[in-house]
Amino acid sequence: MSAMKADIVTIFPDFFRGPLEYGITRRAQEMGLAEVKVHDLREFTRDRHRTVDDRPFGGGEGMVLKPEPLFECLESMGVAPREDRLAGRAKESVVLLSAQGRRFTQKVSAELALLDRVILLCGRYEGVDERVADFLADRELSIGDYVLSGGEIAAAVIVEAVMRLLPGAVGNEASTQQESFTVDSKAKGSIGADSTCGSNGLLDYPHYTRPAEFRGMAVPEALLSGNHEEIRKWRRQRALEKTLRNRPDLLEGAALSEEDNKFLAGIRKNRG
Ligand code: SAH
Repeated sequence: MSAMKADIVTIFPDFFRGPLEYGITRRAQEMGLAEVKVHDLREFTRDRHRTVDDRPFGGGEGMVLKPEPLFECLESMGVAPREDRLAGRAKESVVLLSAQGRRFTQKVSAELALLDRVILLCGRYEGVDERVADFLADRELSIGDYVLSGGEIAAAVIVEAVMRLLPGAVGNEASTQQESFTVDSKAKGSIGADSTCGSNGLLDYPHYTRPAEFRGMAVPEALLSGNHEEIRKWRRQRALEKTLRNRPDLLEGAALSEEDNKFLAGIRKNRG
């Protein structure tokens, strides 16, 4: 399999020196699973001042990233034609980071991980000339409901989330299947005894390591029991509790067994 290509377009190329050079993200690149290139948008300007922004038509605050450098930068990269990308004939996607984008989730991350190439365009200032969203990018993605001052951190978040899903990037493949948010397509609908494999759309269960007792704080008894069924049940129940408490919205999409539903009903009853 050839390496997945990630191209980041930014006015702050040095920004990425840190974030992409650690841990799994670094290892995936060293193993040749992924290849990240950072492109300096200012290299695609034509004036002496290397201007990337301009005042908004219609007036108002701030500056807007100009379209020409972004279009020219993309054209220099040999990206597949937009029609082919949109039709799925080319496994490439041009993503504009934007607070107005669709929410980036684990599901979107898994979709992107199947592609040959992802191009991430980082906005700045008040945002990017809308013609970039309409005619150059294939989609707008937001990493959450808050406003950052640039797309760089968002791009780093996406690259990190996607790269750990590339086959071979994480030592133990099963571990990325068991994590928070992951719904195993096979598990949904058909549930059962083995609900310990895969969080099935719930948040992950709590993890502990040695020492078994630390400053009077003990590791839960069930985990020390060596009884697999007891451990499975304990983990599942904690995952259910935490999801109900912190992210009840996830329960709707989760694959729940009869046992799970009974447990949740019990908690809800106790809460009154
Ligand atoms: N005026 C815009 C915010 C611009 S912030 C608005 O109100 O929607 C400047 C840039 O930061 C954006 O162009 C985008 O690239 C990036 N950005 C800000 N928040 C983001 C988010 N939640 N997700 C992804 N990118 C974001």
